[in-house]
Amino acid sequence: MKQFIVVGLGRFGSSVAKTLADNGHDVLTIDENHQKIQDISNYVTHAVEADATDEEALKTLGVRNFDVAIVSIGDNLHANILCTLILKELGVPYVIVKAQDNLHGKVLTKVGADRVVYPERDMGERIAHNLISSNVLDYLEFAPDYSVVEILASSKMVGKSLARLEFRSKYDVNVMAIKRGKHLNMSPGANDKILENDTLLVMGKNENLDKIRNFE
Ligand code: ATP
Repeated sequence: MKQFIVVGLGRFGSSVAKTLADNGHDVLTIDENHQKIQDISNYVTHAVEADATDEEALKTLGVRNFDVAIVSIGDNLHANILCTLILKELGVPYVIVKAQDNLHGKVLTKVGADRVVYPERDMGERIAHNLISSNVLDYLEFAPDYSVVEILASSKMVGKSLARLEFRSKYDVNVMAIKRGKHLNMSPGANDKILENDTLLVMGKNENLDKIRNFE
């Protein structure tokens, strides 16, 4: 069981805190808003009303004994950056921060954030990818220019083995798993054939994944 701190209980922070607590983890939430603390107090281990830019207050709460902190103070960039800096200086090993945009993200990295997330931007991209290509069921950016996509097998794929489709040799993408109904093949081999309604989990460079998506 890991110990988490969630700072800022907007929709994102609350959702992270509740999900961690539902999965049996120890969660300390911090927010300066009395009502937000009241609302979450029944879900998490500790809910504390405090200013997350107050170094002494964070020290008293023993934040250095926690494994991970998630900072999600949206509108107040100054507070978001300052809180990140203090948490790192107090010795929290891993600090994840929600950023508004790239510039904000860069500053957060400079002050020590271990990971910067952009939930609104990422969700927007996922939905757009779903809309652009009807056979893309889900999409996850894995690294800059690389993604993992869940694709519904197109008619051109059906009945062919992975070797015959030449995804790896021709397109440099990897089929990581094939889902058929409730059955999941997690290490598909060259001789495995694609059947109608199969779902493929494919990883590769975005430009190559585009070719697989449009493999009609
Ligand atoms: P959402 O996740 O809903 O999009 P948001 O990104 O708009 O939220 P805000 O609502 O601006 O975020 O802030 C999130 C929370 O952070 C609020 O509940 C607010 O009370 C809290 N907050 C802001 N500044 C501080 C601070 N200095 N110390 C503690 N909590 C703070």
